[in-house]
Order: sequence, then C-alpha cells, then structure tokens
Amino acid sequence: MSIYADLVCTQCDVRLWLGKVIHHGDANPIYFHAGPADEAPNWARDELNAVLWKLLAEHARHPLRVVVEGDADGPPTDASVELGGDRGVDISFGDYLAGWPGLR
Ligand SMILES: [Zn+2]
Repeated sequence: MSIYADLVCTQCDVRLWLGKVIHHGDANPIYFHAGPADEAPNWARDELNAVLWKLLAEHARHPLRVVVEGDADGPPTDASVELGGDRGVDISFGDYLAGWPGLR
C-alpha cells in the first residue's frame, strides 16, 4: 500500500504534495516521488523546486511540517490550499510562480 506526504505550513494550512513515500520496511521516508515511476525525481523538476523554494520563503518563521498520510494531526481539511492541486481553493504551480522575483 502506498502512502503519501505533504509539506505543510500548519499556520497557514498551505500544503505541497511531495508524492509517494519511498521507504524500506519502516515508516521513515528515504525520499518522496510524485507521479509515475518513470517521472524524473522530485529534485530534478524545475517547477516543483521553484514552488518549494517560494513556499520556504513565503512561510519563513512559520511552523512547517512534513506530514505523512495517516499522521493524526496533519490531514488536509476542506480549507487547506494545495499548491498544484485542482480544487477551487488550490493554486496551480503556474499561478503560484507567476511574477515571483525568485525565478529571475
Ligand atoms: Zn505559513
């Protein structure tokens, strides 16, 4: 059974889906992989990385957590805003990065 993880600002309830938890036998992740197995590693995706770095800047000094599916205190709510999500409250990667000076 696959489990998934998000990086969450628990103060703002903003989250970035990190993908599938890759682990060896126990629950401690070794790395995360979003999308199909033949998709590039998360670290090699320019847009995903830009979103991550903007999130880190925007939420500096906020409580950031990597929440693994099944954690008691971290499931998304209807009000959670997912970066890259497709619900009405979510923000696409393109919209999130539009005009961000960090892209230069
Ligand atoms: Zn925040």
